[in-house]
Amino acid sequence: MSKIWTNSGDSHFLEPDDLWQKRLPKRLADLTPRAEKEPDGEWETVHVDGQSFRRKLPSSAAVKFMEESHKPQGVRDARARLGDLDKEGVWGEVIFPSLGMWASTFRTPELLKACMRASNEWALEEIVAVSDRYVVTAQISTLDVDDAVEELTWAAEQGFKAVFLPTTPHPSADDWHRDSWEPLWATAEEAGIVLAFHIGTDPVDMTTGGAGQVYRGPGGAVMNYTETTFSGQRAAMKMVASGALDRHPNLRVLISEGGATWVPFLGDRMIEGYRQHYMAVRPKLARDPKEILFTQIYASFQHDETAVAAFDHMGYKNVMFGSDYPHMEGTFGHTQDTLKGLFDGVSDETRLRITQGAFYELFPHVPPVPADAN
Ligand code: MN
Repeated sequence: MSKIWTNSGDSHFLEPDDLWQKRLPKRLADLTPRAEKEPDGEWETVHVDGQSFRRKLPSSAAVKFMEESHKPQGVRDARARLGDLDKEGVWGEVIFPSLGMWASTFRTPELLKACMRASNEWALEEIVAVSDRYVVTAQISTLDVDDAVEELTWAAEQGFKAVFLPTTPHPSADDWHRDSWEPLWATAEEAGIVLAFHIGTDPVDMTTGGAGQVYRGPGGAVMNYTETTFSGQRAAMKMVASGALDRHPNLRVLISEGGATWVPFLGDRMIEGYRQHYMAVRPKLARDPKEILFTQIYASFQHDETAVAAFDHMGYKNVMFGSDYPHMEGTFGHTQDTLKGLFDGVSDETRLRITQGAFYELFPHVPPVPADAN
């Protein structure tokens, strides 16, 4: 059986650790995250933007997990990466940078703004320039709306087609459903920029190690992993219920890594809430919430056995495969096996929509998968 080619709505890249130190003026570079190990070898102190906090160093098991997850050379080298993609049968990719996870710990708007610009310039030089198969997400400050609008406008001029947004904005900013973000939505719609939310990116308490450890005890590992999924659903819910997507019908949202079957479910709940609580609903929407979800929200999944059924049997068409390269939760090393399992006995129409069509609807500038690709 020949290779099943797919695009990916969910992939990752690791920038050099010293990207900000190298590119920012010293005054600002000195404020970017810097860790100092303590003599006992178990704790470190992290200095960031004039604040310091102690955190326990990750266990050797956690370090091993991180190293395994970032082993492929292509996570740091955009040229080497193409070899991995060809082997796996992945053509175009939405690529999320990694350093941005620190953004919620910054408190100086000027610093965050400068870091985001440095990251975007670096991505243009080191990833975007290498291949037109890469759709790198721009990064913007979510601490200050004006800074966000300014950076998104600049990013659109540079050719970025998507922007990464955390599932909840900076802790000092308004949440996504508030009207203060309206200028950002207007700018993104006008520029044709896709809003790409990646699950599990709510601001975290860095003192606990930063890895979203909500639960301890029996079931903790599965519960913590599952928990990350809900943040994407909440972001989608806010974008729909607040009227943001209703006011901007050409604005499109990608929720990466969170599965797909939740969209029909959430649509059912929201339409019930909208109908049964109509007297209290503000703002009123021109279209019902389920229709807005189904038309403007795209959702990527990797292994979910039910995702294909969301397309075939629940009327939700914006289902998109994502490899989550190179993370352990993803399909790297077994992408073809995963795709063959997912699409066994499934129609060509369904397979092509999920592996390619939904992606090309968001990113028509990416070249088509070559007919002779193998
Ligand atoms: Mn991912």
